[in-house]
Amino acid sequence: CGIVAYLGHRQACPIILKGLHRLEYRGYDSAGVALMNDGELNVYKKKGKVAELENYIAEKDTHARVGMGHTRWATHGEPNDTNAHPHYSTSERIAIIHNGIIENYAALKTHLQQQGHEFHSDTDTEVFVNLIEEIQTQNHCNLEEAVRLALHEVVGAYAIVVMSRDAPNQLIAARKGSPMVIGIGDGEFFIASDATPIIEYTNEVVYVNDYEIAIIRDGRLELRSKEDVEQTPYIQKLEMEL
Ligand code: GLU
Repeated sequence: CGIVAYLGHRQACPIILKGLHRLEYRGYDSAGVALMNDGELNVYKKKGKVAELENYIAEKDTHARVGMGHTRWATHGEPNDTNAHPHYSTSERIAIIHNGIIENYAALKTHLQQQGHEFHSDTDTEVFVNLIEEIQTQNHCNLEEAVRLALHEVVGAYAIVVMSRDAPNQLIAARKGSPMVIGIGDGEFFIASDATPIIEYTNEVVYVNDYEIAIIRDGRLELRSKEDVEQTPYIQKLEMEL
């Protein structure tokens, strides 16, 4: 299982697909991408290999300079197209990719269903994105704040990336227990499960720590703690081996 995300001046989709191929060694049963362009947030996903996802989206409009992709190793719900990531929130305004397990998903799901949220998949992940949406609606807060508050409610392990139609040039990421590294290029940013999808583009990386939230917007990376305290990113230089 793996995650890749991109925000910058290049086409995101080819970079994400190439990155997913580089993460194939980690093992997976399905793959998908979310791409944001012109106020649209489109999700394409398929059971099977990344090559099958590539065939599936060959005829689609994949133009976007911000996007994210996922390879899934099913833990909650069988491997199929619906359970593949990314997952939308009920309004389809927010999308998430997630590696890990949300242990208290059942209780959260019951609560969210009572609030009117609809679920299409059997995954724990779909609960996470609806929780973010619910918090944003209740608190009238921005995406970053909603993600941060959601992290206080979920129990388990995660590496997530979140995108929202209402925040078109932004990626919000967070982790606890599952790996995540961010590559910093010249006006562009890469997020991945490990550095293999990134080294081709930049050798400056930041390893995100447990309980940190990464906000990529306005051409910069900001790291904050779960308690909303700004952290200084520790930028490491990778040894390039191409
Ligand atoms: N628990 C999530 C699922 O079953 C994510 C699995 C993964 O890490 O790929 O969909």
